[in-house]
Amino acid sequence: MILRKVAMLIGVVALSVTSAYAGGIKNIIVVIGDGMGPQQIGLLNSYVKHAPNSIYKDKNRRSAWESLSKDGVLGLAYTDAANVLVTDSAASATQFASGKMSGSEMIGADVDGHRTETVLEIAAKMGKSTGLITDTRVTHATPAGFAAHQTHRSKENEIALDMLSNKVDVLLGGGLRHWIPKGANDKSSNIHAQLTDMTDGVVRIKSKRKDERNLLDEAQAKGYQLAFTKEQLNASAGDKLLGLFSYSQTLNGIEESMTSKNVDRTVPTLREMTEKAVSILERNDEGFFMMVESGLIDWAAHDNDTGYMLHEMLKMDGVVEYLYDWAKDRDDTLIIVTADHETGGFGFSYSRSNLPEGRDLPGEVFEGSTFKPNYNFGSYETLDKIYQQTASYADIFSLFDALPVVEQTPAALAILVNSHTRFAITEAEAARVLETEDNEYFVEGHGYLSAKTFPKVNEFKEFFVYGNEVRHNLLASVVGKQQNTVWATGTHTNTPVPIVAWGPESVTSQFNGLIHTTDWAKFAIQAMQ
Ligand code: MG
Ligand code: ZN
Repeated sequence: MILRKVAMLIGVVALSVTSAYAGGIKNIIVVIGDGMGPQQIGLLNSYVKHAPNSIYKDKNRRSAWESLSKDGVLGLAYTDAANVLVTDSAASATQFASGKMSGSEMIGADVDGHRTETVLEIAAKMGKSTGLITDTRVTHATPAGFAAHQTHRSKENEIALDMLSNKVDVLLGGGLRHWIPKGANDKSSNIHAQLTDMTDGVVRIKSKRKDERNLLDEAQAKGYQLAFTKEQLNASAGDKLLGLFSYSQTLNGIEESMTSKNVDRTVPTLREMTEKAVSILERNDEGFFMMVESGLIDWAAHDNDTGYMLHEMLKMDGVVEYLYDWAKDRDDTLIIVTADHETGGFGFSYSRSNLPEGRDLPGEVFEGSTFKPNYNFGSYETLDKIYQQTASYADIFSLFDALPVVEQTPAALAILVNSHTRFAITEAEAARVLETEDNEYFVEGHGYLSAKTFPKVNEFKEFFVYGNEVRHNLLASVVGKQQNTVWATGTHTNTPVPIVAWGPESVTSQFNGLIHTTDWAKFAIQAMQ
């Protein structure tokens, strides 16, 4: 930056080349790990450092997150929304997109309901290109907070319209259901056939719209290219791109890990979407603003699904690895990696179950004594077993719910869980998992079981709020003693989240220490101007 100013003074560099970003940051890249509190970073770090077969063995057991945090500035951000203790993703995104306090579940409005101007909108006004990338729905709360203004996060049909009128250059993620007309739900309709054709038959065609607007047509009229598969994404060459690769979320982390080298995979990974977005956005001499959301960390954490969450953290770290590699030799780019809140209140914890055997130690202090701690402090092998999960709890229960009703027994659930995870459950434990408020099961030797017989649902049900998905939380509770894992809630906590800022020190030094989501948004907006 200093060199550039000197060059301008002596007239070596033409003013027109540098004026676009002289004094300001040219490119701002924000990575949001939704629900990624210090606990989630802890899970990633334990796996990277200690899993005997960690995929980071060839990378000096160092995550990209660790590298970025060491080379940049690491702070802590508290996340609460206006007048409440705990935030949701909508209020939090609104706050860090605008620097203004917002109310629960609002999108792009301040605490009084006034429209908030976002960092993305300011960047666009400055002539920068803009992009929003997510592995959830493009219209989901986190991306919405940057480019929509609605009373409630659930208005995803309206959010899609806002995003188009905001002219975000690159929109990549899932959630086709909010962009296609209601009439597409008629499987014999022309529009259903047309959409099936456009999507190469690999995306579920079902609309959540209440009207007949075809936002894909409207996007094309505004100059967007469309992509629905990895192949179409790779082939697109325009400066404006709308990519919708699934009905709702795109690939979860387990699916990404299991298909990373699969040439037949039709859905792009979050990293592939990010690489494509950068290749488009970097063409603009004025620079760009881009937000990439690793949004399924939060979904995994709501489910208390440790294996799924680990793979989501690995997915996030792959994105950070690519972005840091892209930016590392530049002096005009700011990278921010942080979260909107923590989800689940996760932790590895020591227990009284499965106590380790005592063993002899060579040191003189232990001469004649055995090393035998009183509790089970967890073993490194557990980390490999967590990694080896082959389906999310949500997918396991989808398989279970797809069985004929008479076959939806505890024994059937145990078979599914035990074939997709390394933490086997018994039929009696499976029965406890099925004891939700809505369900009652007859188990030989136990009689009828329901929520009434399982205290966890009764005592904590106010914090496990997602109906039948409470089964995921109950499964986590049942396997906890094998995994050395505990979960506090099925919703969010207000634990302050780590924030890493990398880029010119004059900017990143502000991110040090304890800050609020609205603070760092202001730093990012100032940095650009
Ligand atoms: Mg989100
Ligand atoms: Zn959440």
